[in-house]
Amino acid sequence: MSAHDDLKALIRTIPDFPKPGIQFRDITTLLLDPRGFAQTIERMAAATRGKVDLVAGIEARGFLFAAALAVPLNAGVLLIRKDGKLPGATIAEDYALEYGQDRIAIHEDALVPGARVLLVDDLIATGGTARAAVRLIRKAGGIVSQAQFLVDLPDLGGADALRREEIAVDALVS
Ligand code: IMP
Repeated sequence: MSAHDDLKALIRTIPDFPKPGIQFRDITTLLLDPRGFAQTIERMAAATRGKVDLVAGIEARGFLFAAALAVPLNAGVLLIRKDGKLPGATIAEDYALEYGQDRIAIHEDALVPGARVLLVDDLIATGGTARAAVRLIRKAGGIVSQAQFLVDLPDLGGADALRREEIAVDALVS
């Protein structure tokens, strides 16, 4: 069994969540497996190119991967939060959901201009969330040249949309 199949076997699919017709990829089962989680972080670290100053994780599951990955990369952790959660002055970015919109934020002084940021999340689907995160980091003066995901749903085109923004995208499972 390849390492790729190993990780895939640790992710389960829950039908009709959060609404009928959606096949939700549930990664909580991978997190429960010590080897699976360790291997995920090792493989993300091995796929990282060049020096990274900050690993940016998207709330909430992205935080887990960003925090664990920042340690071997000797980088800081940038929390990309849902708007309204951060205590200091923030900058925010809106993005479209299937119905309506959402907003993510970071502290306005979180980034030194020119900081090299690796974006991380558990899963990329349409890429709407990740692209909003990229706009936010770039607005704050950061450089995002790579993004890593545990899971890519390639039919939804999110990874390709990020690549069109000059970002190298890696996913461990598709
Ligand atoms: P996108 O913006 O359409 O790419 O959706 C990606 C965001 O929604 C990520 O922050 C994911 O955590 C979450 N997400 C969407 N679909 C799933 C899924 O099937 N499993 C886990 N998370 C998902």
